[in-house]
Amino acid sequence: MKGILIIADGLGGRPTDMNGNTCLEAADTPYLDALATRGALGLLDPIGPGIRPGSDTAHLSLLGYDPYKVYTGRGVFECLGMGMDVQAGDICFRANFASVEPSQEGLRLLDRRAGRINEGQKELEQALQALAIPGIEIEFLASTQHRGALRIRGEGLSRFVSETDPHETGALLHESRPTQDEAGAEKTAEIINQITQQSYELLKDHPVNRKRIAEGELPANVMLLRGAANCPVLPSIESITGARGAVIAGGALYRGVAEACGMTYLPVAGATGGLDTNIRAKANAILEALKSYDYVFCHLKGTDNAGHDRNAQDKRAFIERMDRELFKILIEQVNWESTHLAFTGDHCTPIDFGDHTVDPVPVLFVGPSIPRDPSTTIGIRVAGQGGLGRFSGRVLPMLLGYCNWAPKFGS
Ligand code: ZN
Ligand code: ZN
Repeated sequence: MKGILIIADGLGGRPTDMNGNTCLEAADTPYLDALATRGALGLLDPIGPGIRPGSDTAHLSLLGYDPYKVYTGRGVFECLGMGMDVQAGDICFRANFASVEPSQEGLRLLDRRAGRINEGQKELEQALQALAIPGIEIEFLASTQHRGALRIRGEGLSRFVSETDPHETGALLHESRPTQDEAGAEKTAEIINQITQQSYELLKDHPVNRKRIAEGELPANVMLLRGAANCPVLPSIESITGARGAVIAGGALYRGVAEACGMTYLPVAGATGGLDTNIRAKANAILEALKSYDYVFCHLKGTDNAGHDRNAQDKRAFIERMDRELFKILIEQVNWESTHLAFTGDHCTPIDFGDHTVDPVPVLFVGPSIPRDPSTTIGIRVAGQGGLGRFSGRVLPMLLGYCNWAPKFGS
């Protein structure tokens, strides 16, 4: 038996999205409807009722872990997702290229995404190779747009340090400080502050930024750091169930979470982690991966991006594209006698709120072990009447359980 787990980030919504319907309900989805007719629906609390999830903690929960026990911060997933080597003792950060101007009091934030820079990041990454702190090994990699990841390695470092990102235009960059009275936190905070200052010195007169300023764009002249984390201790899904899994994801964070759980990353050309991703290429990669792996986890980010942008049309259009470019292909080409599929979101990102909310998300299971329920479409209201009821997290363990991979608890 094979398993397919598809997570559309921020899939869930509210009736306020589109005149009384969520974007998922408003979307025209004949292929998802066909799957709903063959399977069963339920309502999923990604972490638990009333808990407002981040994408990283929600994914850990959906994959079967207790995020309250294992989560140390997002930075480590960003670094793993960029393919960096992360070892015990390393501290990892999510990094942003940002725009600042100097002032008497310190560096003042102009834009925390450096005008969503989309060119020249590799040259800036190159310049940041000159970051140097005695006794500390520093690795920085730029990813998409303003995003990047930073790892520091050395003796006696701690993840208990505050971020430098003030999250507010016009505010001074924050100084990193220890957040717990733990050995190493003071030293690590000091390193972060030095790296921040050095990043400004290395980037402020860089040719990429001189060109940006000449063209009326904001310079990417500092690195903001947040999400300090060390490597979590996670037993791999294979060690728990025996099932070997692969991950298909454009966003580094999701690749990183899945790799931390022991899945093998399969790169897909055209997977951007955005609304413009090549969904068809991902569908074909799922079919290919099923030949060599017991299960495949495929992540799509466009739904969440549109939700954060409060763009209902984009969110609905992305769902309709998933229907035609992913679910149609799966319906036609998967061997449904020996395959189970689970489809859900990691949380709601309603249009009117523009961020993650506590509301439950519809979840769909299809396959030979799943008892059909009367649903003929997928949406929050029908999901509430579905045969799977309402449950919290653990979607992958349920999927693997239907595929007969679950270990027995007790005798
Ligand atoms: Zn998410
Ligand atoms: Zn989000």
